[in-house]
Amino acid sequence: MKCEIISVGTELLLGQIANTDAKFISEKLTSLGIDVHFQTNVGDNKSRLLECLKIASNRSDIIILTGGLGPTMDDLTKETVAEFFGLKLIEDTDTKLKIEAYFKKSMRKMTQNNYKQALFPEGSKILPNDNGTAPGCIFEKNGKKVVILPGPPSELIPMFNNYVYPFLKSLSNDIIVSRVIKIFGIGESQVEMMVSDMLLSKNPTVAPLIGNGFVTLRITAKSDDVQKAKKMIDNIEASLRKIFGEYIFGVDDDTMESIVLNLLKNKGFTLSTAESCTGGLLSEKITSVPGASEVFKFGAITYSNESKENILGVSSEIIRKHGAVSEETAREMAMNVKNISKTDYGLSITGIAGPSGGTIEKPVGLVYIGLAYKDEIYVKKLISNGNRDKVRLNSAMHALDMLRR
Ligand code: ATP
Ligand code: MG
Repeated sequence: MKCEIISVGTELLLGQIANTDAKFISEKLTSLGIDVHFQTNVGDNKSRLLECLKIASNRSDIIILTGGLGPTMDDLTKETVAEFFGLKLIEDTDTKLKIEAYFKKSMRKMTQNNYKQALFPEGSKILPNDNGTAPGCIFEKNGKKVVILPGPPSELIPMFNNYVYPFLKSLSNDIIVSRVIKIFGIGESQVEMMVSDMLLSKNPTVAPLIGNGFVTLRITAKSDDVQKAKKMIDNIEASLRKIFGEYIFGVDDDTMESIVLNLLKNKGFTLSTAESCTGGLLSEKITSVPGASEVFKFGAITYSNESKENILGVSSEIIRKHGAVSEETAREMAMNVKNISKTDYGLSITGIAGPSGGTIEKPVGLVYIGLAYKDEIYVKKLISNGNRDKVRLNSAMHALDMLRR
């Protein structure tokens, strides 16, 4: 089934507001397995809306219109849609009474044009609006299903959830199940290349997303049976695990920090951190996990050379000789914070987040991450691309990732 959304409102075309209604509806339709092939924005203009309806009715099975249900002259969606489909506008008594009551209750004066909101194309099922005066409606004509909703999101969202979603769901027996696979340590384009054949698959679909410092693949399966859909997803997940192995750190709601914290907790290990360029981002991530206190004992933000020396006891000799951003400093920070706090692991980050401060030998994005455990220390050298935020986020993610391996 193909669906198309027509958002009516000149303010959308003027760039005064973003079309969040279409985004919301599209997300919902996708989750129902209904293909959204077009989203159109059109102004409050009768002839142009008629043009849109003509095109839409030729190519789509479901047409959802938003906006232009108000009482004023420029609100002309229902009238235009009724005209296009050759339907009369009929007054709904229930709605009329509700609008009268709404005005009485809010002690506002009701004008004649408010009655316009009680008119609907004949044969419509009316969708009550509990948050405003403009009800929506659904009707079917010439094999097309037409849904009309008011523009304000505070009205549209509950109406969609309460009436339109169940209606659309009832049109299909298919169940949609999806799972998100989270990958860290490989770039998005490389991930895409490695699964290029899977990205073409129609059911289940596999779609990449990025954000939050890692790559996400969303697997979505459509079937008439939940177990069948889950099985389809399991198969794809198994193939992805073969391809990406350890690079996959979690699924669905897992975060890098929750995975790492639970791993350490299950093994009974404790952790402390010493951060420089990430300024506490690492410990913020760690402490965002409920129950982190069982694992995380101490975090130091040693931003200056002096604090690295005085608080963590990094030798001034090392800092002078190798610099604060160096393998040697990362080593001492990790080992010393572990020893000071008497934890099993000590994790350190020191680097150049930019935009200034880089040199040819030590460019912006250069970061050293130290991990101390017993008498051993591992140091990872990282060169991150991107702006300050990206460098910092990537550093914190890599630091956590080291604990996972
Ligand atoms: P009203 O009764 O408030 O006039 P309406 O159904 O006539 O409702 P519009 O006049 O088109 O809706 O829009 C009213 C307000 O709703 C807009 O000013 C805007 O704030 C919001 N709105 C309308 N369309 C959208 C949209 N597509 N996405 C997000 N917000 C929207
Ligand atoms: Mg309006």
